[in-house]
Parts: sequence; C-alpha cells; structure tokens
Amino acid sequence: MLGDGQSLSAQRNGDGRVRVYLSFYLSSHTVDNWFATSGIPFGDPVAARARLIDLFTGWNPRFTALIAACDDTAVPWSITTLPVGLTWPSRPDVTLLGDAAHLMPPVGQGANMALLDGALLGVALAAHPNEFPAAVEKYEREMFERTSAAAHNSAQMQEILASPDASRRMLAFFQRS
Ligand SMILES: Cc1cc2nc3c(=O)[nH]c(=O)nc-3n(C[C@H](O)[C@H](O)[C@H](O)COP(=O)(O)OP(=O)(O)OC[C@H]3O[C@@H](n4cnc5c(N)ncnc54)[C@H](O)[C@@H]3O)c2cc1C
Repeated sequence: MLGDGQSLSAQRNGDGRVRVYLSFYLSSHTVDNWFATSGIPFGDPVAARARLIDLFTGWNPRFTALIAACDDTAVPWSITTLPVGLTWPSRPDVTLLGDAAHLMPPVGQGANMALLDGALLGVALAAHPNEFPAAVEKYEREMFERTSAAAHNSAQMQEILASPDASRRMLAFFQRS
C-alpha cells in the first residue's frame, strides 16, 4: 500500500510468518534524526506498535490491522546503498559478493543477487581450480554487469516509492511491464 511519503507492505516468509514493513520516505534534512524524533519506543513493542498505527492515521483500518496483529519487535532500519555500478581492480586473493559488493535499496533483488553471486563464484572456481585469479576476474566481470543493472532498476523503483505520486507511478510501471 502506497501513500504520500509512506508505505506498508507485508511479505510471507518461508516459515509461514508474515513480516510487515512500514516505510517512511524522508527528505535529506529530516533523515538523520528521524528515529530519535519519531516518538517510536523501539524497546517497547506494544507501545511501538501503537505509535506506528498513529503514524498511519487516515489509512484504511484493514491495513493498520496488520500492524496491530504483529507479535514481534519493531526493528528500525535506515536504507543505505553503495553507488550504482561500483567496480574495483581485480585482486587475486580477495573478492566481494552480496551486499558488500552491491548494497541496493530493498525492493526484491539484493538476496537474489547475493545467492547468484555465491553460485557463480563457486562455478568459476570449480572451472579454474589452479587459477584462482582468473576465476575471480571471470566472476567479477559477470557480477559487475548483472548487479549494476539490478542496482539501477532498484534505484529507479526506490525513486518511484519515495515520490509524492507513488501509487500512480507504480500503477503505470505495472501497466508498462
Ligand atoms: C528490510 C529489507 C527487506 C529486504 N527484502 C528483500 C527481498 O524481498 N528480496 C531480496 O532479494 N532481498 C531483500 N533484501 C536484501 C537482502 O536482505 C540482502 O541483499 C541480502 O541479505 C544480502 O546478503 P549478504 O549475505 O550479502 O549480506 P547479509 O545478509 O547482511 O549477511 C552478512 C552477515 O555477515 C555478518 N557480519 C557482519 N559483520 C561481521 C563480522 N565482522 N564478522 C562476522 N560476521 C559479520 C552479519 O551479521 C550478517 O549475518 C531486503 C533487505 C532489507 C533490509
């Protein structure tokens, strides 16, 4: 559900639990202090839920019922990213994969990219058992291209989510796809 500067989403996890995400899209001058000034008592889950429901005043109660139904703690997260298209000169003895290589906004690609990185690095090492530098370089070449495209798409999606007319733009996105 997308609102003006806020969103609520729910994701069914592998163990059957549903994780509820509440996002607040902030301007650069409010972002630094927001967790401290938001009045959300993260150490007290019941009071934190009440305050979060308060911050969603005006939303349909069917949606805020998802917050009320939570029985776990509320965890604050600031969204940070690495620059899109980050690369580095290959080194024979070390490489990066997953978020360490390409941290991107959490819109559904980060874990998928991380898993694929691990698999493809394994394949490259198995194909070059006596030439690790060549294997690392091969892995990085493919990874840089694949993940910079994913990071670019994720940044665009994040920009849509954070825009004042997010719902209209999201609808247009799905109608185009
Ligand atoms: C709110 C949110 C929702 C997301 N939703 C999705 C989604 O729906 N789909 C998707 O594909 N991706 C999603 N992502 C992104 C996804 O979670 C990450 O891209 C993925 O977990 C990256 O995996 P990783 O192994 O690289 O890093 P991580 O999962 O961060 O693993 C790194 C591990 O290293 C450990 N660690 C850190 N420092 C040290 C140290 N010094 N010594 C030892 N251990 C250390 C950490 O504790 C952690 O366990 C989401 C992310 C967030 C924040």
